Order: sequence, then C-alpha cells, then structure tokens
Amino acid sequence: MIWNKNSECMEREDLEELQLKRLQNTVKTAFNKIPFYNKKYSEFNIFPEDINSLNDIEKLPFLTKDDLRESYPFGMFAVDKKEIIEVHSSSGTTGKPVVSGYTQKDLDIWAEVMARGLTMMGLDEDDIIQNTHGYGLFTGGFGIHYGAQKIGMTVIPISTGQTRRQVEIMNDFGSTGLIFTPSYGMYLGEVAKEENIDPHKMGIKSIGFGSEMWTEEMRLKIEEIFNCKAFNIYGLTELLGPGVGVECIKQDGLHVAEDIFYPEIINPKNKETIKNGERGELVLTNLYREGMPVIRFRTKDITSLKYEKCECGRTLLRMSRITGRTDDMLKVKGVGVFPSQIEKALLKISRIEPHYQIIVTRPDLMDEIEVKVEASQELFFDGVKEMMHIQNKIAKLIENEIGIRVKVTLVEPKSIPRSEGKAIRVIDKRNLK
Ligand code: ZN
Repeated sequence: MIWNKNSECMEREDLEELQLKRLQNTVKTAFNKIPFYNKKYSEFNIFPEDINSLNDIEKLPFLTKDDLRESYPFGMFAVDKKEIIEVHSSSGTTGKPVVSGYTQKDLDIWAEVMARGLTMMGLDEDDIIQNTHGYGLFTGGFGIHYGAQKIGMTVIPISTGQTRRQVEIMNDFGSTGLIFTPSYGMYLGEVAKEENIDPHKMGIKSIGFGSEMWTEEMRLKIEEIFNCKAFNIYGLTELLGPGVGVECIKQDGLHVAEDIFYPEIINPKNKETIKNGERGELVLTNLYREGMPVIRFRTKDITSLKYEKCECGRTLLRMSRITGRTDDMLKVKGVGVFPSQIEKALLKISRIEPHYQIIVTRPDLMDEIEVKVEASQELFFDGVKEMMHIQNKIAKLIENEIGIRVKVTLVEPKSIPRSEGKAIRVIDKRNLK
C-alpha cells in the first residue's frame, strides 16, 4: 500500500523540478521575511536569484542548532505570529531549547508525511495504534497522532509512562500498531510477561521506533518479543518532527519525503558535500514549510543516502538507519567510540539482557570505559564462575568492535534503571567540558 502515489513514486526528473521550484521559493521567503537569513546570506554575498539548480544549495551557509537557539523563541518565524497555530520545542537540556512553529498548512503537511510513513509500515484505517510517545512540546506524540488520524486509524494517545496500564490497554483494546522507543519497547515486553500476558498473542501487526539510536540486533530482539515487524521513523523538531523518513516493508533504509525535505550528506570535518553514497552528517532543508522554513540544518546525525529504486515501488531515496551522532561519539583514549557499537556487541551474547550503561571515567588521567550489563535471571543464579566467563566473552566482543579494552560488569537483573522515554546509555564522568 502506498498512501500518495503521486508524490511517493515520481520520476526523479519531475521530482527534481519540483524540489528546485520549492527550494527557490523557500530561500526567497527566508531572505525576505527572516532577518537572520537576510543578514547571513548578505554576509555570504548570496541571494535568492543565485539559486538556479539544486546543486546551488551548496552555496548557502549551514544553519546550526546554536543559530536556532539564538533566535529563541520566535525569531525564525516567517509569518505573522497569528498565523502560527501550534508550537513545539526540543528538549533544551543544554542551553535554550529550539522552538518550532507551525501554520495550519504545516500541520497538514506533517500529517501527510506521517500518513505516508504509517502506511509504509503496513498500517491502515482498520488499525488501532497505541502511541507511547509523549504528547506535549516534544514532536513525537503529535506527529504520529496527526498522521494516524489522517489515515483514519483509531489512535490511543496514551503517551509515555504508566507501563502496567499500557500493557493492559494494549491487551484489552486490541492495539495492532505500537509506537515506542526501542528501550521502552523492551521494558513493555518485560512488564507484559510479569503480568502473564504473552506479547505474541496480542496481535500486534507493526511497530514504529522513534527518537532513539538503535542497532539491527535490537530490532530483531523487539521483533522477536512482539512477533511482528518493527520500522524506523526519523524526524527532528527543527524540521517539523517525525516523518522526515520512514522505513517501508522492505526494511532497507528510510524513504525520505523528498518533495518536502531536501537531504544532503556532508563530511562533518571539512563540511564538503558527499555524493558517492558514503556516510556522513545529514543536512536537511524544509522545501515546503510556511511557518519556519529551515535551510541547510546540520542534524549531527550520521547516515548515508541511496537512490536506487526500492522494491516497494517508491522512487524516493532511502537513508540508512542513523548509526551515530557527530556529538555522541565518545573520544576514549583518543579513539572514537559510538555507543551503538557497544550495543551491537552486547546483542550477540545470549544469557544477558539488553539493558546496559556505558560509564566513562578518567582515574589517573587515563580514560576507562566500564560497561554495566544485566545478567539474565538464570545466569545470575549460575554463580560467579559462569558470570566471569560471560564477562570476558563480552569484553572480547566489544574490544573487537571498538578496538579498545573495556571493563565489563554483569549486574543483577532489573538493576539498571528503566526509562519511559529515551534511555540514558552513556554516563561520562570525565568533566571534559
Ligand atoms: Zn521501499
């Protein structure tokens, strides 16, 4: 099933023509209506009339999260405030949050891209979707909600938390679609079992993952728990929210809604565009947004793009799953380490639970990584000798993956705190700031 064949299966030539037209409009609006762009583009001596091909986008300067923060709260709006009918905001754990503004048309487009995405995941109007993403300033909850309603699905806007009740509702209401972060999904599965409910018998058809880094191994684990397929949903508050890219039934990359968003990959070090399909930092541009057009935003997410036609029939390019962020790469003993590499190694081992924490310290001026992992109930009762054996095995696998030796500690089952939103995987105690 394809939600919008006209937009999702365009010939590339036609798509590029549409993209250029929309890019030109967007740049013109930003330049004329938003002082930030006017000033910045004038400084770079680049003007809307200089955009004559899609490649000309590379002439435009990048936009960073700091730029958006500096215009807090409403400095990036391109329309009169009375036309903005909804605002969302990123979490702002460091510094001021970024505010995202939406006109009615922007909300319609958001619903459209998410409707396409949920359809890609095999859901339709007969489905009941349980949305565990938070409703509030975070875009995760509402984005899914609008898309599901556009399709005509039944939405359970349960939001995050109340895990036992979630499981009960899942079972009683007969939810067929679930939206959660992978770590929360693991926790839901765990609680279901405690309540003597078999997740296999719930009749879940499809799961959507959002807002958290995960590995292919984690996907398999979740699919095994709920006995259905799980799909990646990508988006970010600055650009609208979830729906920038969603995986189709082939599970081989996320189709980017290219008529709405223009993706580029750059080398984060020298900022040059990468066009050969290799991995780099994703840069995104809103092509069709009224309230707050964002142009060449550096996402810090690491991915790659491929243009080959997908077997599902969509012609939209596919981006690979996000494998890291330029800023969550840990520099340990001079080596770049991504938490996802450690997760990958952990999921190769049976008899442990995929709940873990990575703790980085610097005693005596030397970096050390400790990985705390939960033993399975049965391993925990097998005693010290067996635990030591598994600890060594994990340490070896991680060393193979990241190239440095780490300390592995198996801890009691259920002793690592469960999170109802994004899991806290890394604790860096080195005070490097
Ligand atoms: Zn596809």
